[in-house]
Amino acid sequence: MDFSTYVRDVEDFPEKGIVFKDITPLLMNASALEAAADALFRLVKDQAIDKVVGVDSRGFIFAPMLANKLGAGFVPVRKVGKLPHKTVSESYDLEYGTDTLEIHIDAIKNGEKVLVHDDVLATGGTAQAVCKLVKQLGGEIVQCNFLIHLGFLEGAAKLKDYPVAALLKY
Ligand code: IMP
Repeated sequence: MDFSTYVRDVEDFPEKGIVFKDITPLLMNASALEAAADALFRLVKDQAIDKVVGVDSRGFIFAPMLANKLGAGFVPVRKVGKLPHKTVSESYDLEYGTDTLEIHIDAIKNGEKVLVHDDVLATGGTAQAVCKLVKQLGGEIVQCNFLIHLGFLEGAAKLKDYPVAALLKY
């Protein structure tokens, strides 16, 4: 299936000059949704995975589906202040300012094998912060996988210690 036909470019969102990749057309099509979950699973299926870490908020769509297919647990990484239990946190740079992500302190056990998933890899700051959180808890990152990799932003350079895979690369 050509997933690119289900991704819509939205100009000037969330700010002027940005072309946003909108995956909602893919999500609302039953066969594209199923095929995308299967294809993301095939990127990693020969590896043993204990936890799939999904990134707030669009990473929460496919990460639990992948966890289910892999026989793994699902772990949310959330924006600061959203998780109820004790957390560890990691800040990262945005174009203007910084942002902070958190994970529950007991979400990953030392040595567990982890798949990191998000919808889009852009500059890589988000995924890099997520990987640092997983490492802080002693997790071993098996792969970072994405629906969409915006290759021209060179985000994979920030993830050079880990295998990076995606269904679509622009
Ligand atoms: P990065 O930190 O620059 O790699 O940005 C990645 C994060 O921003 C991910 O959590 C994405 O959900 C979000 N993101 C960045 N660009 C897009 C886009 O074009 N479409 C959807 N999400 C995006």
